[in-house]
Amino acid sequence: MADQYAARRGRLRRLVKSAGAQSLLVTDFTNVSYLTGFSGDDSYLLVRPDGEWLLSDPRYTQQLRDECPEVALEIRDPGVSMMKSIEKVVGRRAIRLGIEAGSMSVALHETVASALPRAELVACHGLVEQLREIKDRHEIKALREAVRLAERAFEVIRSSLRGEQTELTVAHEIENQIRSFGGSGVSFPPIVAAGARAALPHASATSETIGRAGFVLIDWGATEPGGYKSDLTRVLVTGKISPKIERIYRVVLKAQQRAIAAIRPGVPASDVDAVARTTISKAGFGKYFGHGLGHGIGLDIHEGPRLGSSNKAVLRTGMVITVEPGIYLPGVGGVRIEDDVLLTRDGHEVLTSTAKEWDEAITLV
Ligand code: ZN
Ligand code: ZN
Repeated sequence: MADQYAARRGRLRRLVKSAGAQSLLVTDFTNVSYLTGFSGDDSYLLVRPDGEWLLSDPRYTQQLRDECPEVALEIRDPGVSMMKSIEKVVGRRAIRLGIEAGSMSVALHETVASALPRAELVACHGLVEQLREIKDRHEIKALREAVRLAERAFEVIRSSLRGEQTELTVAHEIENQIRSFGGSGVSFPPIVAAGARAALPHASATSETIGRAGFVLIDWGATEPGGYKSDLTRVLVTGKISPKIERIYRVVLKAQQRAIAAIRPGVPASDVDAVARTTISKAGFGKYFGHGLGHGIGLDIHEGPRLGSSNKAVLRTGMVITVEPGIYLPGVGGVRIEDDVLLTRDGHEVLTSTAKEWDEAITLV
């Protein structure tokens, strides 16, 4: 297991060098975990050409020794500030020290600059995030598990769904089920939106009952014990609905299936977005699909690459992305269908397998 983290740090060192820095101070806790296997937080990683130091405090000493035995530790004494640790490991030399522009606050930048007066701070953009877009086999295995946990939980929810349940109780039950199957929790607070509320792409669950509206949109995911996250959406028909909902369901499903079919290494992300968008526009609903087609998943629920009309970057083997077109009709309701897809050497593999055909969406309660 230790090898995979060393390999990631090796790749990062090359990126740091090409960004014009000699070392990188990693201050994003998720990036620290990705590079070391450490599952705690409040710790920074200094990556130097000759090795790396994990800067932490005594609460984590034992955990760090267990989780990342190959990384040198700089554990500060109680009452000593993180800045003193940084000063100690960076030293007083004049160096070009890379910092993570995306995670460092202005206040932290000021503190680091004054602690290291001879260092030149070089703003680095998304170096670790760029590595995180391509999953190694350990990560793919973890993502498969995150999908499995989410799908098992959904099966239970679906088969026990009752019209008098509220959106909130369904959301809580999803979390319970994921934990009961061994997951560490939901990957984000589930969206459970009945009827017209499904027209809000980010509706949070309320005390409305789900049977009232005839259909419910559920967007949920699981976090597996290593921290990797899945992300799915299904719409269940629970009673009488307007024919408009069936119409947009079929359009969204077709758009999603066509977009998935277009996924393979070398294709620009924007092209895959365009396949779904064209299908929805031709059906006359273009202006009701107001978000990007999808995003990468991993240790974070939203990471690179983004699938949108402005991202011309090409998809690459090892990426894991969501494909989630939607149509949202104000006052009527919305439909979104979301699956998680792995880029393979010769195409793609859909990691999710929860049924999504129209007939299977019908779950009368
Ligand atoms: Zn989602
Ligand atoms: Zn998503």
